[in-house]
Amino acid sequence: MLKKVLVFASILSSCLVAGCANVQDSAQSTSAFCEFENVAFYDDFDGARINDCKKTDNGVYELSTFPENQPINPSPWYAFKVAAKSEATNVTIAIKAKDARPRYLPNVSIDGENWEKVPFWIKNQTLYFKTEVSTQPLFVAAQPMLVSANYQQWHKINRLSQKYEQIVIGESVQGRKIDALVHRNAQNKEWFIVIGRQHPPELTGAFAAMDFIAAISEENALTEAFFERFNILIVPLLNPDGVANGHWRHNVNGVDLNRDWGKFTQPETKAVGQFIENNVSPNGNIVFALDFHSTQQDIFYTMPTDYGLEPQYFSEHWLQTLRDKRIGSFTVRERPGSAPGRGVFKQYIADNFGVHSVTYEMGDNTPRDMIRHIAQLSAETLMSQLLNTDKEAFLGGKAKIEKYTSPTQ
Ligand SMILES: [Zn+2]
Repeated sequence: MLKKVLVFASILSSCLVAGCANVQDSAQSTSAFCEFENVAFYDDFDGARINDCKKTDNGVYELSTFPENQPINPSPWYAFKVAAKSEATNVTIAIKAKDARPRYLPNVSIDGENWEKVPFWIKNQTLYFKTEVSTQPLFVAAQPMLVSANYQQWHKINRLSQKYEQIVIGESVQGRKIDALVHRNAQNKEWFIVIGRQHPPELTGAFAAMDFIAAISEENALTEAFFERFNILIVPLLNPDGVANGHWRHNVNGVDLNRDWGKFTQPETKAVGQFIENNVSPNGNIVFALDFHSTQQDIFYTMPTDYGLEPQYFSEHWLQTLRDKRIGSFTVRERPGSAPGRGVFKQYIADNFGVHSVTYEMGDNTPRDMIRHIAQLSAETLMSQLLNTDKEAFLGGKAKIEKYTSPTQ
Protein backbone atom coordinates (compact mmCIF):
# COMPACT_ATOMS: atom_id res chain seq x y z
CA MET A 1 0.00 0.00 0.00
CA LEU A 2 2.81 2.39 0.89
CA LYS A 3 4.36 1.86 -2.52
CA LYS A 4 1.13 2.78 -4.22
CA VAL A 5 0.78 6.00 -2.22
CA LEU A 6 4.31 6.99 -3.22
CA VAL A 7 3.61 6.42 -6.90
CA PHE A 8 0.52 8.59 -6.58
CA ALA A 9 2.47 11.38 -4.89
CA SER A 10 5.24 11.45 -7.46
CA ILE A 11 2.77 11.51 -10.34
CA LEU A 12 0.86 14.39 -8.80
CA SER A 13 4.02 16.41 -8.22
CA SER A 14 4.95 16.64 -11.89
CA CYS A 15 2.17 18.73 -13.39
CA LEU A 16 3.26 19.67 -16.90
CA VAL A 17 1.06 22.67 -17.55
CA ALA A 18 1.28 25.13 -14.67
CA GLY A 19 -1.92 25.11 -12.70
CA CYS A 20 -3.45 22.58 -15.05
CA ALA A 21 -7.03 21.79 -14.34
CA ASN A 22 -8.86 18.54 -14.25
CA VAL A 23 -9.86 18.29 -17.87
CA GLN A 24 -9.69 14.52 -18.31
CA ASP A 25 -12.34 12.36 -16.82
CA SER A 26 -10.61 9.65 -14.85
CA ALA A 27 -13.78 8.06 -13.56
CA GLN A 28 -14.50 4.42 -14.31
CA SER A 29 -15.41 4.11 -17.96
CA THR A 30 -18.53 2.39 -19.07
CA SER A 31 -17.63 0.57 -22.27
CA ALA A 32 -14.26 -1.03 -22.80
CA PHE A 33 -12.40 -1.21 -26.11
CA CYS A 34 -11.46 -4.73 -25.09
CA GLU A 35 -11.73 -6.74 -21.91
CA PHE A 36 -10.40 -9.91 -20.37
CA GLU A 37 -11.22 -11.78 -17.12
CA ASN A 38 -10.05 -9.06 -14.74
CA VAL A 39 -8.51 -6.38 -16.95
CA ALA A 40 -10.08 -3.94 -19.41
CA PHE A 41 -8.67 -1.36 -21.84
CA TYR A 42 -10.50 1.85 -22.77
CA ASP A 43 -10.23 4.41 -25.58
CA ASP A 44 -13.14 6.63 -24.55
CA PHE A 45 -11.30 9.96 -24.29
CA ASP A 46 -9.89 12.66 -26.59
CA GLY A 47 -6.58 11.64 -28.10
CA ALA A 48 -6.96 7.92 -27.37
CA ARG A 49 -5.61 5.35 -29.78
CA ILE A 50 -5.58 1.59 -29.68
CA ASN A 51 -6.62 -0.44 -32.67
CA ASP A 52 -6.32 -4.03 -31.54
CA CYS A 53 -5.69 -6.03 -28.38
CA LYS A 54 -5.19 -9.62 -27.35
CA LYS A 55 -3.80 -11.65 -24.48
CA THR A 56 -0.90 -13.89 -25.44
CA ASP A 57 -0.37 -17.45 -24.23
CA ASN A 58 2.11 -16.23 -21.64
CA GLY A 59 -0.34 -13.70 -20.19
CA VAL A 60 0.95 -10.51 -21.83
CA TYR A 61 -1.66 -7.97 -22.92
CA GLU A 62 -0.62 -7.05 -26.43
CA LEU A 63 -2.02 -3.79 -27.81
CA SER A 64 -1.54 -2.52 -31.35
CA THR A 65 -1.66 0.95 -32.86
CA PHE A 66 -2.29 1.47 -36.58
CA PRO A 67 -1.65 4.64 -38.56
CA GLU A 68 -4.66 6.59 -39.80
CA ASN A 69 -3.63 5.86 -43.39
CA GLN A 70 -0.51 5.00 -45.35
CA PRO A 71 2.01 5.92 -46.62
CA ILE A 72 2.98 7.89 -43.55
CA ASN A 73 6.10 9.23 -41.90
CA PRO A 74 5.65 6.98 -38.85
CA SER A 75 5.30 8.38 -35.32
CA PRO A 76 3.33 5.57 -33.69
CA TRP A 77 1.02 7.23 -31.19
CA TYR A 78 -0.87 5.26 -28.55
CA ALA A 79 -3.03 6.32 -25.63
CA PHE A 80 -5.46 4.22 -23.59
CA LYS A 81 -6.67 3.53 -20.09
CA VAL A 82 -6.29 0.23 -18.33
CA ALA A 83 -8.16 -0.89 -15.21
CA ALA A 84 -8.78 -4.00 -13.15
CA LYS A 85 -12.40 -5.05 -12.96
CA SER A 86 -12.20 -6.06 -9.31
CA GLU A 87 -8.94 -6.93 -7.53
CA ALA A 88 -5.76 -4.94 -8.21
CA THR A 89 -3.37 -6.99 -10.33
CA ASN A 90 0.09 -6.84 -11.90
CA VAL A 91 0.13 -6.87 -15.68
CA THR A 92 2.66 -6.87 -18.49
CA ILE A 93 1.58 -4.75 -21.44
CA ALA A 94 3.11 -4.89 -24.93
CA ILE A 95 2.60 -2.13 -27.48
CA LYS A 96 3.12 -2.88 -31.16
CA ALA A 97 3.02 -0.36 -33.98
CA LYS A 98 1.94 -1.48 -37.44
CA ASP A 99 4.89 -1.36 -39.88
CA ALA A 100 6.91 0.89 -37.55
CA ARG A 101 9.37 0.78 -34.71
CA PRO A 102 8.47 2.48 -31.42
CA ARG A 103 9.21 6.20 -31.27
CA TYR A 104 7.63 7.18 -27.96
CA LEU A 105 8.23 5.50 -24.60
CA PRO A 106 5.35 4.89 -22.22
CA ASN A 107 4.08 7.52 -19.80
CA VAL A 108 1.41 6.84 -17.18
CA SER A 109 -1.01 9.08 -15.34
CA ILE A 110 -3.85 8.69 -12.91
CA ASP A 111 -5.65 11.92 -13.80
CA GLY A 112 -4.63 12.43 -17.44
CA GLU A 113 -2.64 15.57 -16.59
CA ASN A 114 0.27 14.59 -14.38
CA TRP A 115 2.48 12.06 -16.10
CA GLU A 116 5.55 10.01 -15.34
CA LYS A 117 7.69 7.73 -17.43
CA VAL A 118 7.70 4.02 -16.59
CA PRO A 119 10.55 1.51 -16.99
CA PHE A 120 10.21 -0.37 -20.27
CA TRP A 121 12.05 -2.78 -22.52
CA ILE A 122 11.96 -3.30 -26.27
CA LYS A 123 12.09 -6.65 -28.03
CA ASN A 124 11.39 -7.28 -31.72
CA GLN A 125 10.28 -3.65 -32.18
CA THR A 126 7.66 -4.09 -29.45
CA LEU A 127 7.55 -1.98 -26.27
CA TYR A 128 6.93 -3.78 -22.98
CA PHE A 129 6.28 -2.53 -19.46
CA LYS A 130 4.88 -3.86 -16.22
CA THR A 131 2.45 -2.05 -13.98
CA GLU A 132 -0.04 -2.63 -11.25
CA VAL A 133 -3.62 -1.85 -12.24
CA SER A 134 -6.53 -1.27 -9.93
CA THR A 135 -10.17 -0.40 -10.46
CA GLN A 136 -9.03 3.27 -10.81
CA PRO A 137 -8.16 3.48 -14.53
CA LEU A 138 -4.55 4.26 -15.35
CA PHE A 139 -3.80 6.38 -18.42
CA VAL A 140 -0.98 5.14 -20.63
CA ALA A 141 0.21 7.34 -23.50
CA ALA A 142 3.11 7.80 -25.89
CA GLN A 143 3.76 11.30 -24.52
CA PRO A 144 2.11 13.46 -21.84
CA MET A 145 -1.19 14.43 -23.45
CA LEU A 146 -2.39 17.84 -24.57
CA VAL A 147 -5.84 17.90 -26.14
CA SER A 148 -8.22 20.76 -27.02
CA ALA A 149 -9.48 21.11 -23.44
CA ASN A 150 -5.90 21.58 -22.19
CA TYR A 151 -5.35 24.40 -24.70
CA GLN A 152 -8.50 26.17 -23.51
CA GLN A 153 -7.37 25.86 -19.92
CA TRP A 154 -3.95 27.19 -20.89
CA HIS A 155 -5.55 30.24 -22.56
CA LYS A 156 -7.31 30.99 -19.27
CA ILE A 157 -4.31 30.41 -17.00
CA ASN A 158 -2.10 32.70 -19.08
CA ARG A 159 -4.91 35.26 -19.42
CA LEU A 160 -4.30 35.32 -23.14
CA SER A 161 -7.71 36.88 -23.74
CA GLN A 162 -6.38 40.06 -22.12
CA LYS A 163 -3.51 40.29 -24.60
CA TYR A 164 -5.10 38.98 -27.79
CA GLU A 165 -8.33 38.82 -29.70
CA GLN A 166 -9.36 35.18 -29.59
CA ILE A 167 -10.86 34.41 -32.94
CA VAL A 168 -11.97 31.32 -34.81
CA ILE A 169 -10.17 31.41 -38.16
CA GLY A 170 -11.71 28.25 -39.53
CA GLU A 171 -12.98 24.75 -38.94
CA SER A 172 -11.29 21.41 -39.28
CA VAL A 173 -12.63 18.65 -41.55
CA GLN A 174 -14.72 17.30 -38.64
CA GLY A 175 -15.97 20.78 -37.73
CA ARG A 176 -13.69 21.53 -34.77
CA LYS A 177 -12.88 25.21 -34.31
CA ILE A 178 -9.41 26.38 -35.24
CA ASP A 179 -8.62 29.06 -32.68
CA ALA A 180 -6.21 31.90 -33.24
CA LEU A 181 -4.79 34.57 -30.98
CA VAL A 182 -4.42 37.86 -32.81
CA HIS A 183 -2.81 41.12 -31.76
CA ARG A 184 -3.15 43.98 -34.24
CA ASN A 185 -3.02 47.74 -34.39
CA ALA A 186 -4.46 49.29 -37.53
CA GLN A 187 -1.38 51.47 -38.04
CA ASN A 188 1.06 48.52 -37.83
CA LYS A 189 1.85 46.70 -41.04
CA GLU A 190 4.39 44.13 -39.85
CA TRP A 191 3.20 40.62 -38.87
CA PHE A 192 4.89 37.92 -36.83
CA ILE A 193 3.35 34.44 -37.13
CA VAL A 194 3.50 31.35 -34.89
CA ILE A 195 1.82 28.03 -35.64
CA GLY A 196 1.84 24.74 -33.77
CA ARG A 197 0.65 21.15 -33.66
CA GLN A 198 0.41 20.34 -37.33
CA HIS A 199 1.55 16.85 -36.29
CA PRO A 200 -0.50 15.51 -33.37
CA PRO A 201 2.05 13.34 -31.47
CA GLU A 202 4.77 16.01 -31.37
CA LEU A 203 4.23 17.06 -27.78
CA THR A 204 7.65 18.48 -26.93
CA GLY A 205 7.13 20.92 -29.81
CA ALA A 206 3.64 21.69 -28.52
CA PHE A 207 5.03 22.48 -25.06
CA ALA A 208 7.75 24.64 -26.65
CA ALA A 209 5.09 26.58 -28.57
CA MET A 210 3.07 27.17 -25.40
CA ASP A 211 6.17 28.32 -23.51
CA PHE A 212 7.26 30.57 -26.37
CA ILE A 213 3.80 32.13 -26.58
CA ALA A 214 3.71 32.60 -22.80
CA ALA A 215 7.09 34.34 -22.99
CA ILE A 216 6.04 36.84 -25.68
CA SER A 217 2.79 37.43 -23.75
CA GLU A 218 4.42 38.38 -20.43
CA GLU A 219 4.19 41.93 -19.14
CA ASN A 220 7.62 43.56 -19.46
CA ALA A 221 9.37 46.35 -21.36
CA LEU A 222 10.50 44.05 -24.19
CA THR A 223 7.08 42.54 -24.89
CA GLU A 224 5.50 45.98 -24.60
CA ALA A 225 7.82 47.32 -27.31
CA PHE A 226 7.20 44.19 -29.38
CA PHE A 227 3.42 44.53 -29.18
CA GLU A 228 3.70 48.22 -29.95
CA ARG A 229 5.46 47.62 -33.26
CA PHE A 230 4.30 44.20 -34.52
CA ASN A 231 1.00 42.53 -35.28
CA ILE A 232 0.88 38.88 -34.22
CA LEU A 233 -1.00 35.80 -35.45
CA ILE A 234 -0.77 32.64 -33.32
CA VAL A 235 -2.44 29.33 -34.17
CA PRO A 236 -1.40 26.91 -31.39
CA LEU A 237 -3.43 23.86 -32.50
CA LEU A 238 -3.68 23.57 -36.26
CA ASN A 239 -4.74 19.91 -36.43
CA PRO A 240 -7.47 19.50 -33.77
CA ASP A 241 -9.01 16.47 -35.50
CA GLY A 242 -5.69 14.65 -35.63
CA VAL A 243 -5.16 15.34 -31.91
CA ALA A 244 -8.68 14.25 -30.92
CA ASN A 245 -8.45 11.07 -32.97
CA GLY A 246 -4.99 10.10 -31.76
CA HIS A 247 -3.47 10.30 -35.24
CA TRP A 248 0.17 9.55 -35.94
CA ARG A 249 0.59 12.57 -38.26
CA HIS A 250 -2.20 13.49 -40.67
CA ASN A 251 -5.58 15.25 -40.57
CA VAL A 252 -8.75 13.17 -40.99
CA ASN A 253 -8.51 13.37 -44.77
CA GLY A 254 -5.23 11.51 -44.42
CA VAL A 255 -3.14 14.51 -45.47
CA ASP A 256 0.10 15.72 -43.90
CA LEU A 257 -0.75 19.39 -43.27
CA ASN A 258 2.90 20.34 -43.45
CA ARG A 259 2.91 19.29 -47.11
CA ASP A 260 -0.17 21.36 -47.97
CA TRP A 261 1.00 24.98 -47.64
CA GLY A 262 0.44 27.00 -50.78
CA LYS A 263 -1.66 24.16 -52.20
CA PHE A 264 -4.33 24.68 -49.51
CA THR A 265 -6.35 21.56 -50.27
CA GLN A 266 -7.28 21.15 -46.56
CA PRO A 267 -9.51 23.39 -44.44
CA GLU A 268 -6.92 23.63 -41.64
CA THR A 269 -4.13 25.12 -43.78
CA LYS A 270 -6.64 27.07 -45.86
CA ALA A 271 -7.91 28.81 -42.69
CA VAL A 272 -4.47 30.28 -42.03
CA GLY A 273 -3.84 31.00 -45.72
CA GLN A 274 -7.11 32.94 -45.94
CA PHE A 275 -6.40 34.90 -42.78
CA ILE A 276 -3.07 35.95 -44.27
CA GLU A 277 -4.67 36.78 -47.61
CA ASN A 278 -7.44 38.85 -46.02
CA ASN A 279 -5.61 40.49 -43.12
CA VAL A 280 -1.90 40.57 -43.85
CA SER A 281 -1.32 40.73 -47.57
CA PRO A 282 -3.59 43.68 -48.52
CA ASN A 283 -1.38 46.33 -46.91
CA GLY A 284 1.00 44.55 -44.56
CA ASN A 285 3.97 42.23 -44.67
CA ILE A 286 5.19 39.21 -42.71
CA VAL A 287 8.55 39.72 -41.01
CA PHE A 288 9.20 36.26 -39.60
CA ALA A 289 7.36 33.02 -38.77
CA LEU A 290 7.87 30.00 -36.52
CA ASP A 291 6.34 26.53 -36.79
CA PHE A 292 6.77 24.19 -33.78
CA HIS A 293 7.44 20.43 -34.10
CA SER A 294 9.31 17.53 -32.48
CA THR A 295 11.83 15.07 -33.80
CA GLN A 296 14.65 12.89 -32.43
CA GLN A 297 16.88 15.90 -31.69
CA ASP A 298 16.56 19.60 -31.01
CA ILE A 299 16.91 21.17 -34.48
CA PHE A 300 16.13 24.54 -36.01
CA TYR A 301 15.35 24.08 -39.71
CA THR A 302 16.09 27.36 -41.45
CA MET A 303 16.01 28.69 -45.00
CA PRO A 304 19.42 29.05 -46.70
CA THR A 305 21.14 32.41 -46.33
CA ASP A 306 21.65 32.65 -50.11
CA TYR A 307 17.98 32.06 -50.92
CA GLY A 308 17.31 35.77 -51.45
CA LEU A 309 15.28 36.32 -48.29
CA GLU A 310 15.45 39.52 -46.28
CA PRO A 311 17.21 40.27 -44.05
CA GLN A 312 19.74 37.82 -45.51
CA TYR A 313 21.26 36.51 -42.25
CA PHE A 314 18.24 36.95 -39.98
CA SER A 315 17.81 33.32 -38.77
CA GLU A 316 21.55 32.74 -38.65
CA HIS A 317 22.05 35.79 -36.41
CA TRP A 318 19.19 34.81 -34.14
CA LEU A 319 20.45 31.26 -33.64
CA GLN A 320 24.00 32.51 -33.07
CA THR A 321 22.67 34.80 -30.33
CA LEU A 322 20.91 31.80 -28.80
CA ARG A 323 24.11 29.72 -29.09
CA ASP A 324 26.10 32.48 -27.38
CA LYS A 325 23.88 32.08 -24.33
CA ARG A 326 25.66 28.72 -23.69
CA ILE A 327 22.61 26.92 -22.43
CA GLY A 328 23.81 23.97 -20.33
CA SER A 329 23.76 20.76 -22.32
CA PHE A 330 21.55 22.22 -25.04
CA THR A 331 23.00 22.33 -28.56
CA VAL A 332 21.62 24.88 -31.03
CA ARG A 333 21.59 22.85 -34.25
CA GLU A 334 20.87 24.84 -37.37
CA ARG A 335 19.92 22.99 -40.56
CA PRO A 336 19.36 25.21 -43.58
CA GLY A 337 17.36 23.73 -46.42
CA SER A 338 14.89 24.48 -49.16
CA ALA A 339 12.24 22.33 -50.83
CA PRO A 340 10.18 24.44 -53.24
CA GLY A 341 6.73 23.09 -54.03
CA ARG A 342 6.71 20.54 -51.22
CA GLY A 343 4.07 22.37 -49.18
CA VAL A 344 6.12 22.95 -46.03
CA PHE A 345 5.08 25.99 -43.95
CA LYS A 346 8.50 27.66 -43.76
CA GLN A 347 8.97 27.28 -47.50
CA TYR A 348 5.54 28.81 -48.12
CA ILE A 349 6.46 31.82 -45.98
CA ALA A 350 9.81 32.20 -47.75
CA ASP A 351 8.48 31.83 -51.29
CA ASN A 352 5.40 34.01 -50.84
CA PHE A 353 6.69 36.74 -48.56
CA GLY A 354 10.45 36.78 -49.11
CA VAL A 355 11.32 36.51 -45.40
CA HIS A 356 12.89 33.92 -43.16
CA SER A 357 10.94 31.31 -41.25
CA VAL A 358 12.11 28.53 -38.95
CA THR A 359 10.78 25.06 -38.14
CA TYR A 360 11.50 24.87 -34.42
CA GLU A 361 11.93 21.19 -33.49
CA MET A 362 12.36 19.93 -29.94
CA GLY A 363 13.78 16.49 -29.30
CA ASP A 364 11.25 13.84 -28.26
CA ASN A 365 12.99 13.42 -24.91
CA THR A 366 14.11 16.99 -24.22
CA PRO A 367 13.20 17.63 -20.57
CA ARG A 368 10.27 19.90 -19.85
CA ASP A 369 12.39 22.42 -17.91
CA MET A 370 14.88 22.69 -20.79
CA ILE A 371 12.05 23.18 -23.30
CA ARG A 372 10.74 26.06 -21.19
CA HIS A 373 14.17 27.62 -20.73
CA ILE A 374 14.99 27.48 -24.46
CA ALA A 375 11.57 28.85 -25.37
CA GLN A 376 12.04 31.78 -22.98
CA LEU A 377 15.50 32.60 -24.39
CA SER A 378 14.29 32.09 -27.96
CA ALA A 379 11.44 34.51 -27.39
CA GLU A 380 13.62 37.17 -25.76
CA THR A 381 16.41 37.01 -28.35
CA LEU A 382 13.98 36.90 -31.29
CA MET A 383 11.87 39.81 -30.04
CA SER A 384 15.02 41.89 -29.49
CA GLN A 385 16.36 41.10 -32.94
CA LEU A 386 13.06 41.88 -34.65
CA LEU A 387 12.87 45.20 -32.77
CA ASN A 388 16.47 46.03 -33.72
CA THR A 389 15.79 45.48 -37.42
CA ASP A 390 14.52 48.38 -39.53
CA LYS A 391 11.16 48.00 -41.27
CA GLU A 392 12.76 48.39 -44.71
CA ALA A 393 15.18 45.53 -44.04
CA PHE A 394 12.33 42.97 -44.25
CA LEU A 395 11.25 44.13 -47.71
CA GLY A 396 12.42 43.21 -51.20
CA GLY A 397 13.10 39.48 -50.68
CA LYS A 398 10.26 38.26 -52.85
CA ALA A 399 11.66 39.77 -56.07
CA LYS A 400 15.08 38.25 -55.32
CA ILE A 401 13.89 34.70 -54.62
CA GLU A 402 11.90 34.64 -57.82
CA LYS A 403 15.23 35.11 -59.59
CA TYR A 404 16.91 32.51 -57.35
CA THR A 405 14.34 29.76 -57.77
CA SER A 406 13.48 30.17 -61.45
CA PRO A 407 16.59 28.45 -62.93
CA THR A 408 15.92 25.17 -61.07
CA GLN A 409 12.16 24.96 -61.56
ZN1 LIG B 1 6.32 17.61 -37.26
